[in-house]
Amino acid sequence: MPTAPVRRVPGRLLAPAPGWTTTADVVVVGSGIAGLTAALRLRGQVGKVLVVTKDVLAAGSTQWAQGGIAAALGPGDTPQEHLDDTLVAGAGACDRAAVEVLVTEGPDAVRELIALGTNFDHDPDGELSLTREGGHHRDRIAHAGGDATGAEIQRALIAAIEQAPEIEVIQHALAVDLLLADDGGIAGLTLHVMGEGQRDGVGAVLCRAVVLASGGLGQVFAQTTNPAVSTGDGMAVALRAGAVLRDLEFVQFHPTVMYLGPDSRGQQPLISEAVRGENAFLVDWDGDRLMQGVHELADLAPRDVVAKAITRRMGESGRPHVWLDARAFGPEKWERRFPTILATCRRHGVDPVTDLIPVAPACHYASGGVRTDLWGRSNVPGLYATGEVACSGVHGANRLASNSLLEGLVFSRRIATVLPGELRPLLPPARDTRTAGLVPSDVRRDLQEAMTGLAGVLRSAEGLADAVGHLDKLAGVAADAVDQESWETTNLLTISLALADAAALREETRGSHWREDFPDRDDTHFSGHIDVVMHDGATAMELA
Ligand SMILES: Cc1cc2nc3c(=O)[nH]c(=O)nc-3n(C[C@H](O)[C@H](O)[C@H](O)COP(=O)(O)OP(=O)(O)OC[C@H]3O[C@@H](n4cnc5c(N)ncnc54)[C@H](O)[C@@H]3O)c2cc1C
Repeated sequence: MPTAPVRRVPGRLLAPAPGWTTTADVVVVGSGIAGLTAALRLRGQVGKVLVVTKDVLAAGSTQWAQGGIAAALGPGDTPQEHLDDTLVAGAGACDRAAVEVLVTEGPDAVRELIALGTNFDHDPDGELSLTREGGHHRDRIAHAGGDATGAEIQRALIAAIEQAPEIEVIQHALAVDLLLADDGGIAGLTLHVMGEGQRDGVGAVLCRAVVLASGGLGQVFAQTTNPAVSTGDGMAVALRAGAVLRDLEFVQFHPTVMYLGPDSRGQQPLISEAVRGENAFLVDWDGDRLMQGVHELADLAPRDVVAKAITRRMGESGRPHVWLDARAFGPEKWERRFPTILATCRRHGVDPVTDLIPVAPACHYASGGVRTDLWGRSNVPGLYATGEVACSGVHGANRLASNSLLEGLVFSRRIATVLPGELRPLLPPARDTRTAGLVPSDVRRDLQEAMTGLAGVLRSAEGLADAVGHLDKLAGVAADAVDQESWETTNLLTISLALADAAALREETRGSHWREDFPDRDDTHFSGHIDVVMHDGATAMELA
């Protein structure tokens, strides 16, 4: 096993001194399913709840979710079966107790979402319409608007927040760093607000607890299904405050993301697995079926198997993508079953009724994040984490399809159960002696290319060492501007280094982590977790 590395990254982000100060009892960072559920559940229990979000309320991943939300709601289905499927997908790295929480509390959590006003699709007989996705042995995915589940959930949550004037919301407010009290626990956070009047620029919010619900890290890679706000901020902010990050190496790459051309970076359109579920299939440039003979489930093999096969074929052929053939659906099925995907393809000049869709793998979901217990608590007193920013232990080495919206719902409800009883007093922030630094925003593209090429779908010791060498060089470049782009890029760099180091340390193939040089799962080696911690501005790995 390689030695656990130590890397120097900024211990806090270089930022102007706060120009304004305000107070709240609880600050929720993020306004996706996890953040808004936490805020709605906490109101009336803890005094003032403040939601801060770095763009508009709907800007996170939640609104992009297509397939749906998984829960044992159908006739004959049980939490136990949902648990079994989740543990298999997690490849021996799930926390069983966390999965038990997810599957037993999941059905009630979804019913509560329905009671809140979310319009899920129903069968003609009026029953909730449930579908199946890869890895599930039952029809247990509730969906809305066909393939627009996330947009409907986000709409319903925003409508509920708008009906709750006691919850204060600040949009265009980026959490920069946490403020810590003398005891190492939460005293508040610094924010950058693009506002006007009294709250403009960098300010401080003094508070008694922070709920991080800031989503994933997709923008670490050159192509991702995640929106622009998914820059891993919450993970980096928590790490700098002393929180433990876990399982960062387990990143799910979605195999069928629409290829938009050689210069296309950032968020790319997802072509849901459900399209292959309806018998669409992958072909290469010679028109040969790609997945036949690769796996017994062919085009419906697990996501990581399909992503790996596509990446290999792209490498062999020197082509930047393969093709998805769904022409057999015809116009009626496309319009009824996948209206959003159809419209997206057409917007990009591809008519899937008559054309093949160009597709390639792209980063989709971070299974790791801020390590929490079963109640969403991190190891920093007063700091909670929920949703994609958190590592609650439910996904292990690979997320089961449609379990992530559910995770945000269930664990935000749990946080709202315990947090009111353990609120800290409002404590003054200690003098911050952490070293401040910032890298310039123009290293972002370099960083993303290195991560995609060397730490993406297929990994090896050599490639990961090259990635880390490259990132280390970028870490030595100092920013000449202090702005949102530089803060985000510094967060991306911090998380990329930790992710690449963790991937190098895990010398085995497990779940979504594929090592070309260690192709087997190795339960004798170590089957536990890789934690990342920061001391005095240096990240270090620990095996847990
Ligand atoms: C295309 C796509 C399809 C998907 N399909 C499914 C699916 O069918 N089923 C499923 O279960 N999951 C799906 N997922 C995953 C799922 O959508 C996400 O895991 C989930 O929505 C995450 O919710 P969240 O509330 O944790 O984060 P998000 O919804 O990403 O919200 C994060 C919030 O934090 C804010 N934020 C970020 N950084 C800061 C900062 N520094 N300061 C202040 N605010 C900040 C963002 O602006 C945003 O409001 C999909 C994801 C994508 C991208």
